[in-house]
Amino acid sequence: METRQQTPNRYVENAPGKFYVVDTCNGCGLCLSLAINNFTYNDDASYYYIYKQPQTPEEEEQCKEAMELCPIDCIHDDGGKYESINDGLYY
Ligand code: SF4
Repeated sequence: METRQQTPNRYVENAPGKFYVVDTCNGCGLCLSLAINNFTYNDDASYYYIYKQPQTPEEEEQCKEAMELCPIDCIHDDGGKYESINDGLYY
């Protein structure tokens, strides 16, 4: 029996830092409505990503709320583990 798991990849556009969006986003836009300073969308608004990491406690809370309420669960916080990755690499 073949078992294959597809691991979602981070969008390369995510700003370096602990919050990031992976490529299962459905483009619903909820995250932007919750954290307007930190999320934006690509050219055709088919997906959203973190364009600025939170820089205030308020932005941090808004990003956390977006992460908790995202219907696809495609916003993540890795605690800064891959903070140095923003050169087009996926993992
Ligand atoms: S809330 Fe989640 S699914 Fe909706 S646009 Fe934002 S990242 Fe994508």
